[in-house]
Amino acid sequence: MKVVGVDLGGTEIKIGLVDKENGIEKKISLPTEVSKGTEKVVQNISEGISSISKGVKIDGIGIGSPGSIDRDEGVVRFAPNFPEWKNFELSKAIGSIVNLPVFVENDANSFALGEWYFGHATGLTDFVCITLGTGIGGGVVSHGILITGKDGIGTELGHVIIEPDGPLCGCGNRGCAESIASASSVARTARELIKRFPESLVLKTAGGIENIQSKHVFAAAQQGDYMAQMIVEKAVDVLARLIGGCIHIFNPEKIIIGGGMSKAGDALILPLRKRVEAYIMVSFRNTYTIHASELVENAGILGAASSAIYALRGD
Ligand SMILES: [Zn+2]
Repeated sequence: MKVVGVDLGGTEIKIGLVDKENGIEKKISLPTEVSKGTEKVVQNISEGISSISKGVKIDGIGIGSPGSIDRDEGVVRFAPNFPEWKNFELSKAIGSIVNLPVFVENDANSFALGEWYFGHATGLTDFVCITLGTGIGGGVVSHGILITGKDGIGTELGHVIIEPDGPLCGCGNRGCAESIASASSVARTARELIKRFPESLVLKTAGGIENIQSKHVFAAAQQGDYMAQMIVEKAVDVLARLIGGCIHIFNPEKIIIGGGMSKAGDALILPLRKRVEAYIMVSFRNTYTIHASELVENAGILGAASSAIYALRGD
């Protein structure tokens, strides 16, 4: 089976020709051009799909989109990067041009499906994926089925409340996992604390308060920086509570961490493995493993492609 995966970002569209057995065979990227309006974005996506699949028999198109997605109808309810898109029928708009089945999936579910067909979860029936980026996304496969819930919006793991008196979350609640342990929240906490720890290595490695990203915090923590270690410890503790909850609910074989912050690798994963043990019942010990995703910069394309492979599966 060959499909085209479209990783739809606010500034860049990455498109890949993906074979179910061989992975990415070809990829291109082009500007999204959101400011030029919906028609232009749709045109860019369609032209990218046509150019990459020229002369190849394609079974379907998968689009991974941020925001709230009606996956059954292929409708983007709303997406922060695309202010014009309110209940936009994305799959219909693209499908009518390229004349192929088009499937739209939110980026966290796409990521989980990508791990299933091309990553750590190959061949598994039960696993949990958590993406750590601007927010925290969740994708769960249980008994070989992607869990979506009644309205298709389930497994919002980032908005599980871990600290009721914690920071205000973008969703309006306080202390969601996302408000403390997403890549953006880790960077924001560092920018706030730097006033109290002006000598922190985080500031030196980032080269200025505004430049601070989660990767600077993890790098400084590795070098023994007190403030950075404190922030990492907090984020790890919050993630461990979330993962502990997932282990009790889903009894997964693997937990796979993706998104920008997963690039911290062992600096994140090793303390996380240790901390999770503090939050699970003894009977769950050694029933799971925790990994950082290895799909890295291809995760978006492979995830989008996998949502088409999953939708078209009949095998
Ligand atoms: Zn929230």
